[in-house]
Amino acid sequence: MKVLFTNAYFYRLDEKQWQLQKPYPPYGTIVAAAVAQKDGHDVALFDSSLETSPNNIQPIIAASKPYYFVVYDDNFNYLSKMCLTVMRNACFEMMALAKAAGCKVLVNSSDATDNPFLYLQAGADVVMNGEAELTLLELLQEDTPIEQCLGISYLVNEQLVTNPKRQVLTNLELLPMPAWDLINIYSYRTIWMQHHGYFSLNIATTRGCPFKCNWCAKPIYGNRYNTRDAASVVAELNMLYAVHDARHYWICDDIFGLKPSWLTEFNKLLKTTNIKPKLKIQCRADLLLKEDTIKNLLEAGLDEVWMGAESGSQKVLDAMDKGTTIQQIYEATTLLKKHGVKVCLFLQYGYLGENASDINLTLQMLKDLLPHDIGISVSYPLPGTGFYNKVKEQLKYKQNWTDSDDLAMMYKGTFSPSYYKHLYSHTHKVFHLQKSKFNLQNIGKLLRKKDVTRLKAATKLPYYWLAEKWSYLKLKSLA
Ligand code: SF4
Repeated sequence: MKVLFTNAYFYRLDEKQWQLQKPYPPYGTIVAAAVAQKDGHDVALFDSSLETSPNNIQPIIAASKPYYFVVYDDNFNYLSKMCLTVMRNACFEMMALAKAAGCKVLVNSSDATDNPFLYLQAGADVVMNGEAELTLLELLQEDTPIEQCLGISYLVNEQLVTNPKRQVLTNLELLPMPAWDLINIYSYRTIWMQHHGYFSLNIATTRGCPFKCNWCAKPIYGNRYNTRDAASVVAELNMLYAVHDARHYWICDDIFGLKPSWLTEFNKLLKTTNIKPKLKIQCRADLLLKEDTIKNLLEAGLDEVWMGAESGSQKVLDAMDKGTTIQQIYEATTLLKKHGVKVCLFLQYGYLGENASDINLTLQMLKDLLPHDIGISVSYPLPGTGFYNKVKEQLKYKQNWTDSDDLAMMYKGTFSPSYYKHLYSHTHKVFHLQKSKFNLQNIGKLLRKKDVTRLKAATKLPYYWLAEKWSYLKLKSLA
C-alpha cells in the first residue's frame, strides 16, 4: 500500500521561527513513517518543514498517487504543540489536495486531537487521537472494523463519533528507528552551517511528562512518562554521528534527566562509542538539583538547558501548580553557569492573579541570573488544561495564536493586551542592558578572548540604557 506522509509545521510560514534559522526535521513524523515501513508499506514523505507553501505537495501527490495521505505531526516539537492557525490552514489545504486526488486522509496532531470535528469537516477521513503509531498501523492494515479501532474520531451522518482512547505505549522499544532516510538532511545542514557554523539534529528519548503544571497541554502522551532504552538512544546517536556527522543534538523530550539511573547507563554506553555530543535539553530546576543529575548531564555533553522558570514570583509558580521554587531556579542556574552550561529561561507573563510586583520579581530574576537566552510567552489557554477551564468563557473570538509571534492575551489579564505586548519587548530591553553591563565589567577578558560580538554589545551600553528607560516609561503609561 502506498502511503504519503507529511507534517503540518512550515517554518517559513512562521516568520519568528524562520528568522532563527534553526530548523529541525519532523522527528515524530519519521517515527510513524518507520512504523508503516516496517509493516511493509511503500512509504514516502513530503517534509513541510522547509517548504514555502502547502501547494507544493500537489505535484508529489499527482506523481506518487498514494492510497493513504497521512498528516502525522511532529508531536515532540513544542512548535507543533502550539496549535497555530496558520499551520492548521496549511494542513487543511494539503488535505483538500489529497482528497481531490482520491486519497484516504488520516491526521494526527495536538490540534486535531483537540478539534477532531474541524479536521473531519475539512476533509480528513479519520483523526487519530493522542499517541497514534499503533492506531495508524491498525488503520493501514484495514482488518479492524472502524467501530473497534481505539483512539480515533470520524463522522457518521455528519455526526462526530469518537472511539474509546488507546493506552499509550509503555514499551518504546517496540518502535523502530525513525526513518531518517526520508529526510533531506543536506538542506537542514546547509541552513545550520551557514547561520551558526555547526549542525544540530533532534532526538527523543522519552514520551510525556509526569508533572502537572496546570496550563501545560498534553493531548498526545498525557501524564505518562515512558523512556526508551539507553542502548537504542545511543545506537541512534551513533548512526546520526556516523552517517550525518551531527555533533550537536536537541533532545526534544519535555524533560530530560528525570531518572538519574538512566543517565548513568546512558553515559556508560556513550563512553563505548566515539561520539562526544553537545546536548541541548529542556528540564526543570528541581530535577536538575536531584542527586548527581548535573554531574551526569555534564558527563553526557550538556551544552544548553532551557529551564521552564516561568516567573520570579513564588505566588505565581504556586498558582500554576508548577511544583518548583524560586530558590531552586536560582540554585540550578548558578550551578550550571559555574560549569559553563548555557542556561536559558522560559518566562511566562499574564497568568491569573499576576500583578505588577510579580512582574517586577520576574524582571529582577532576569537581572540576577543573566541567562544565556530567554523565551517569553504570555499564558496560552490550551484545551484539556485546568487553566483553560478557568478562562474558557472568555475565549469567544480567538482560541489559538496565528503564529508563534502572535502572543495575544486571549482572556482578561491584570493589564491590557497592549501592556503585555510591550512587556515582551521591555523584558528584552532589560535583558540586553544587563548583558551589556556584564560585558563591560568583563571587558579585559573579552579583549583577551577577542570576543567581537560581546565587545560590540558592551559598547552599546548607552543605547541600551536609554532604550530601557524609555521602554519602562511606556510600560508605566500602559499599566
Ligand atoms: S514540567 Fe514542563 S512538560 Fe511537564 S507539565 Fe510542567 S510545563 Fe509541562
